[in-house]
Amino acid sequence: MAGLFLPLIHPETIAHYLFWTVLAVGVFFCGWVCPFGAIQDWFAWIAKKCNLPRFKMPWKIQKYLQCSRYVFFGLMFVGVTFSFLNARFYFQDNLVHNMLSWTSGITLTIFLIISLFFDRPFCNYFCMKGAADGLMSIVRLIGIKRNDKTCVHCHLCDKVCPMNVRVENTTFVRHPNCINCMQCLSVCPKNCIKFHLMNIHLKKEKK
Ligand code: SF4
Ligand code: SF4
Ligand code: SF4
Repeated sequence: MAGLFLPLIHPETIAHYLFWTVLAVGVFFCGWVCPFGAIQDWFAWIAKKCNLPRFKMPWKIQKYLQCSRYVFFGLMFVGVTFSFLNARFYFQDNLVHNMLSWTSGITLTIFLIISLFFDRPFCNYFCMKGAADGLMSIVRLIGIKRNDKTCVHCHLCDKVCPMNVRVENTTFVRHPNCINCMQCLSVCPKNCIKFHLMNIHLKKEKK
């Protein structure tokens, strides 16, 4: 798990080394390394163990709400420097240097509470690193590929995706939300999702 890296290497150092790989293989940092991503997953696991109700953001809302992290990214990009906007970074730094501002702490706490009910809310709607890496990952050469010929349209892949990607609608997942967690791949009963070379000629996806 992500936290195991901390005594050895700062997660931001790993993020730095993985940065350019996003262009080739998409975002692995968010799915496999980021401590705050992992902690949201732990909260989801605890919620399931406690039988708390879990919700999936309705697509009608998700398609607009998922833009919010790009708005926050844009604010940071033009120099708006409220520390809570970069709460994820301060969280990681706090694990190593014990420096978490109270605004960042409150922001992270709110999102952890929400993650008891929704998958990865901070990643979906707030994180500017997720937004930046996601935008770069659109051009990835290798990624999630679904075989429509063997798909039985059970929608399990859509339900399990913590980032609300509509895998069942897609042949090659180039969605900036995809974090290469491979959960859609592992849940597919027909084994029709693979991590594979993408088609250069992009097909228009079904709506
Ligand atoms: S989107 Fe942000 S908080 Fe979520 S896993 Fe990626 S870097 Fe971490
Ligand atoms: S889980 Fe597999 S079979 Fe079910 S909709 Fe997704 S790709 Fe198709
Ligand atoms: S479940 Fe599949 S589509 Fe969703 S983030 Fe994980 S790898 Fe990407």
